[in-house]
Amino acid sequence: MPQTLPLHTLSSWQEQLADLLTDPLELLRCLNLQPSEVGYSEAALHEFPLRVPRAYVARMRPGDARDPLLLQVLPALAELAQTPGYALDPLEEASATVAPGILHKYQGRVLLITTQACAIHCRYCFRRHFPYADNRQSRADWEQSLCYIERDGSIEEVILSGGDPLALSASHLDWLFERLRRIPHLRRLRLHTRLPLVLPDRVDARLCEQLRALPWPAVVVLSANHAREFDAAVDSACAKLREAGVTLLNQSVLLAGINDEAEPLTALSQRLFSAGVLPYYLHLPDPVQGTAHFDVSLARAQELLATLRARLPGYLVPRLVREEAGKPGKTLL
Ligand SMILES: *Cc1c(COP(=O)(O)O)cnc(C)c1O
Ligand code: SF4
Repeated sequence: MPQTLPLHTLSSWQEQLADLLTDPLELLRCLNLQPSEVGYSEAALHEFPLRVPRAYVARMRPGDARDPLLLQVLPALAELAQTPGYALDPLEEASATVAPGILHKYQGRVLLITTQACAIHCRYCFRRHFPYADNRQSRADWEQSLCYIERDGSIEEVILSGGDPLALSASHLDWLFERLRRIPHLRRLRLHTRLPLVLPDRVDARLCEQLRALPWPAVVVLSANHAREFDAAVDSACAKLREAGVTLLNQSVLLAGINDEAEPLTALSQRLFSAGVLPYYLHLPDPVQGTAHFDVSLARAQELLATLRARLPGYLVPRLVREEAGKPGKTLL
C-alpha cells in the first residue's frame, strides 16, 4: 500500500529549504482562498517576495482569510501605504555596523548577521529593507568580523542572527563555531532563529551534536507569535534542542490582527511552556515602512500585558519592549 505522508516529512531539511512556497496564488489555492478576499497585492510581493516552508503552510487553516499564520506571510495591499515617520532603517542599524555584518549596539553583546537568507519572509520584519546584498559575507569579511570580536575583550556573547543562522549549512556552522571557540572571552552563544518553528526538520542530529559540543551554554531564541505555529514536529524539535543542553526562549512581535488580544497571547505563553520554551520579549513593532497596518498602540499593549500578568504566572509573562535608536538596550515599557 502506498503511504500518503505529507510531502514535507519525506525530504531532508535541505530539500525543504530549496522547495519553499514562493507563489502566492499557489498558497491561496492550497487554502481555498481568493486573492481578493485576503487583500493580496502583487506590488507588495515585488517589494518583498513570498517565502514560506510547506511544513508551515500545513498549519494554516484552509478557508480562513484571517488565519494568523497566513497573515504573517501574505504580501498585502496594506503594505503599500506610505506612513509618515516610518523609515527603511528605523533602528539606525547602519550606524551600529562596526565591521561587515556585525552590529555592536549593546554592552557585552554583538549581533552577527550570518546570512541574508531566511526560510520564511515575515511581512512585519524590521529587516525587510535591510541591505543584505551589502552585508553578504565573504570569507575575508568573516575574518574581519571575527577579528573585531577577538579584539574586544568586553564581548561575552555572540548573537547569531540574519536572516536566519540556521539557514546556514552544517559545515558552515562547524567552521563558524570552530572560529568562535578560539575566542577566550566568550561566555555564551545565542541564536535568533525561526527555523525550528517553520521548518522543524532543521533540528537534526547533526545540529544537536554541534550545539552540545559548544564550550559555552547556548541559547536559542525562537520567534513564535501565535500558539498555532506549534505542532508535534515543533514540540519534537524543541525537545531535541533541550536535550542538547540549549536554553529555549521566545520573542514575539505584537501584531494587530494576529495576536493583539489577551486570548492568543495567553495561549501562546501556555503553548510555549508546554514545548519547554519561556517567553522572553514581546516587541512593539518597529516603525518600518510597509508595516504600519500591524501597529498596536502602547496603551493597548500595556493593557494586554496587565491582563497577562493577572492571568499567568510571572515566568510566563514576556517583557514588553521597544527598540529605540541610540539606547543602551531595549526599552522596557
Ligand atoms: C536585541 C539586540 C541584542 C540583544 O539584546 P538582549 O536584550 O540581550 O536580548 C543585541 N544586539 C542588538 C543589535 C540587538 O538588536
Ligand atoms: S525570519 Fe526573522 S529575519 Fe527573516 S523575515 Fe522573518 S523576522 Fe525577518
